This record gives sequence, structure tokens and C-alpha cells, in this order.
Amino acid sequence: MSRITMKAMMLEGIHDLNQTDAPLVLKTIPVPTPASHEVLIKVTACGVCHTELDEIEGRTPPPQFPVIPGHQVVGRVAAVGAEATRFSVGQRIGVAWINRACGHCEYCHGGYENLCADFAATGRDAHGGYAEYMTVDEDFTYPIPERFSDAQAAPLLCAGAIGYRSLALCQMRDSQCLGLTGFGASAHLVLKMVRHRFPESSIYVFARNPAEQDFARSLGAAWAGDTTATAPSPLDCIIDTTPAWTPVVAALHNLKPGGRLVINAIRKEAVDQNVLLQLNYAEHLWHEKEIKSVANVTRSYVVQFIELAAQIPIIPEIETFSLEAANQALMELKNKRIRGAKVLEMASS
Ligand SMILES: [Zn+2]
Ligand SMILES: [Zn+2]
Repeated sequence: MSRITMKAMMLEGIHDLNQTDAPLVLKTIPVPTPASHEVLIKVTACGVCHTELDEIEGRTPPPQFPVIPGHQVVGRVAAVGAEATRFSVGQRIGVAWINRACGHCEYCHGGYENLCADFAATGRDAHGGYAEYMTVDEDFTYPIPERFSDAQAAPLLCAGAIGYRSLALCQMRDSQCLGLTGFGASAHLVLKMVRHRFPESSIYVFARNPAEQDFARSLGAAWAGDTTATAPSPLDCIIDTTPAWTPVVAALHNLKPGGRLVINAIRKEAVDQNVLLQLNYAEHLWHEKEIKSVANVTRSYVVQFIELAAQIPIIPEIETFSLEAANQALMELKNKRIRGAKVLEMASS
């Protein structure tokens, strides 16, 4: 270990992103030392996720400040703790949103470690990857298959893995019609997955931005329209990745009898919450329509998805930024300037 200090983009408190466009501050801080069961990772790429906006704006606030955000981390092992034996220095690994769980409660034992009361999140409850280095328990890391570049692998770790879990929770079958409302990093990976796993299925994309609708069609969506549009035919399942409520009501309207809406969002914004008063039982809920939320990911879902992504392959569409440009990437995400997944790439030094 030659480096003593590192650059990090740090969050020092909650911010209203209508008042500031630079919520993170560039700091030079000591490189962390790995504890006995941890590895030190020299970060090379870190995905930018909508959840960072939820942290910054206080919808899922970090318990303490300052904190280094970022939970789609790819890098190389730079040092290992005394009892860490899984990896050797130089190996390429990734870190996802799940940073730790207790390992012995009913949820951890039942395959639902994402619901553990002691669940901790990378980049919120522990320092994440908007930095040149980070430490993490070696059991909460994943080897990265060779076919992905560092920047391509990063969005697989959250957007991809949680998209995979959302699709699993849909319980759809081939030839069924799937809707995607919101078309950011996660949804575009789901679209690629569905085209591979369910080749007879049609995909309908609801997005406010015409550029996102075009992007969806270019990736093989059968139809793309506004988030409040009525689909050309009723849908079996819909995955919602928007931060709003209007698309939820519209999605329930677009579901077939017995259809299921899966909401993949850690928090919803309050701006349009009043639209829920328009919920009409007969139109939106009757006929056994279901709503299910997705909470984070378990390690096994990350592992399964990375393997599937390498096998298909699913190569994410990415747009890269420097570490110092993290605020710009976040503000573009906030202002819905999205084409694929945004990824910070650390300069090599
Ligand atoms: Zn995320
Ligand atoms: Zn637990």
C-alpha cells in the first residue's frame, strides 16, 4: 500500500436539490485500513443510482455524516485483513447495496437477508464507492466475470440485480405482456433480460421523456408511450421504477385482471401523492390485481444476476463521468437526463 490519502466525494448533510446543484464535496482523506475480515478495494468504477438522490434529499437519510455514497462498486483488492482469505491482492471484485446483515435471524436464515432488521447499506450506513478506495467485509463482495469492463460491471450490481429481483417477483411466463414504467438504468437491463428469457413476450414501456421512449423502442420494446398512457392491450405484469405516484395509478389501470404491479423504488417522492385519491377500486384494484414492493437485494440475487448477465450477455449502456463530476451525474439523474446507466470512473494513479 503506497497511498496514504485518497480523494472522495462526500455527503455532509441533507440537501434540497432545487436549492443546490453540488450536494457532494470533494475531500482528501486517509485511505481506510481493512479490519480483520475486510478487504481494501482500489475503486475503478462506481455506478450512480437514484437511491443516492433519496439519501441526499433525506428520503432514506444516512444515520451519520459525512458519508461517502455509492453502492455499485467495482475495483481491485489492494489489501486484505488478517482473517480475510477469499481474495488475493489484485483480484477484481464488486460491492452492492447490501453491506451487511446479521446472519442469524429468521430473515437471514430464510433467504431474505434484505429484510433483516440489521441490514446495512453500502454508501448510506457505511462508506461507499464515490472514492478512490473503500473497505468492506469480504463476504459481501462478488467476483466480476471477465467479459465486462469495470464501468460496464458497475450498474449490474444494483440496477441489474434489483431489476432481476423485480422480474422474479413478477412471476411472469413466456408470452405474457410486461410493462415497464420509468426507463432508467434498471428498466433497460430488465428489457434486455426479458427479451432473452421470455422471447415470446412483448414489452411496453411508459416514460415521460420522448428520448427514453425512442431508446426503449431501439432496444426492442413493442410499444412506448407516456407514463399516463393507456397501453394498446392490458398487461400481465408491470414493473414501476419511477419515484412518483401517478405512474402507479396509471399502471394499475393498465393491468389485466389478476395482474401484478411490482414497485421497485426504495422511496416515493411526495410531490404527486394526492393522485392516490383518484384510486378507484373497481378500475384499479378489483379483479385480484396485486401490488408488491421490492426491498433491496440479497447476495444470492446479485450472484445469480451477474452470472446470467455474463451468459446472455447483458452489457449495460453506460455514460461515464469522472469522480469529481459526481454532482453533475447526480443532477442529470435528478433532471431525468438519462440514457442507460451513469458510472463514475476513477482516474488510475
Ligand atoms: Zn442502487
Ligand atoms: Zn438477519
